[in-house]
Amino acid sequence: MNKQDITSIKQLLYNKKKIVIVPHKNPDGDAIGSTLGLFHYLIKGNHNVHVIVPNDYPSFLKWLPGNDTILKHDIQTKECNTLIKEADVIFTLDFNAFHRTGNMETVLTESSALKIMIDHHQAPDDYATYMFSDVNMSSTCEMVYHFIDMLGDSNAIDSNIATCLYVGIMTDTGSFRFRSTTSTTHKIVAKLIEKGADNSEIHNNIYDSNNYERLQLLGCALTNLRVIPESRTAYITLSQNELQKYNYKKGDTEGVVNYGLSLDGIVLAAIFIEDKKEGIIKISLRSKGDFSVNELSRAHFEGGGHINAAGGKSHLSLNDTVEKFISILPSYNKALNDE
Ligand code: 5GP
Ligand code: MN
Repeated sequence: MNKQDITSIKQLLYNKKKIVIVPHKNPDGDAIGSTLGLFHYLIKGNHNVHVIVPNDYPSFLKWLPGNDTILKHDIQTKECNTLIKEADVIFTLDFNAFHRTGNMETVLTESSALKIMIDHHQAPDDYATYMFSDVNMSSTCEMVYHFIDMLGDSNAIDSNIATCLYVGIMTDTGSFRFRSTTSTTHKIVAKLIEKGADNSEIHNNIYDSNNYERLQLLGCALTNLRVIPESRTAYITLSQNELQKYNYKKGDTEGVVNYGLSLDGIVLAAIFIEDKKEGIIKISLRSKGDFSVNELSRAHFEGGGHINAAGGKSHLSLNDTVEKFISILPSYNKALNDE
């Protein structure tokens, strides 16, 4: 996004606009934080703004300021489609290809609104008039901060905006520990705290709101953890039966894949979660160093993401998916052992 783009966007936002903000399907902390952060900023400019999510998200995100204004496309389909069709501007946040919004793909593709992408994933599609795409950014929330700053409006950041942006930076950086966390990330986080983000309370709301069943499910996942030493790989499986046994709710498996990566010497971790309703196995992949799970996921599991964190899916059974994973690992053994 260059100076000319910023000038054009400033002009565009000079007059009241109908604006829709959309994150990816199964939105996470960065997706909800960035869309609501941008929402709070844009309503200050007197625009007509709606955040539309493709589907539901974990309850540990439902305390964020502005949460009650969020529309869910899978439930309020008609209302959402009308807003999208009538929108002047659509911001697409934390994804870069329309298929990542699931059933919203068609209405977004057909929309004639001007599109602005703010995103940090690899390989963006080129649907956007203005593209702020940077794979080196820790999070889309960090980019929304830069976006507001580039518009010369960092003074407009209030405690609502700061709280939302803090959430996404914190969750996408694994609480500021992943390699994507830079000194700039920390400087921004410091400013967000100055603007009113209560770091301790935010951490508490996101990570310390477990219930007993979720911890039991974690216990089950850790019991299922397997290690393949020659590939420096650890993986976890969770079947639909196991999820049901512990009364699984959206978000309950968030972060579980990281336990595999916490084992000494492990550079690749995976979790395979059976989703009978969608008829898929949902896969999350994490890595250390230069081993790209984005490439592995694109090559074998219809997915993508970042170098060290990616997702994908499989239409095979849970067992067959794991077998497929194990069978492709030897071709990566050299790369995995070079780490
Ligand atoms: P997670 O494993 O937490 O679901 O996702 C890790 C990262 O990969 C996130 O940045 C997410 O947006 C991305 N990701 C997850 N699933 C998919 C997928 O199916 N396709 C693509 N392209 N990216 C994904
Ligand atoms: Mn993100």
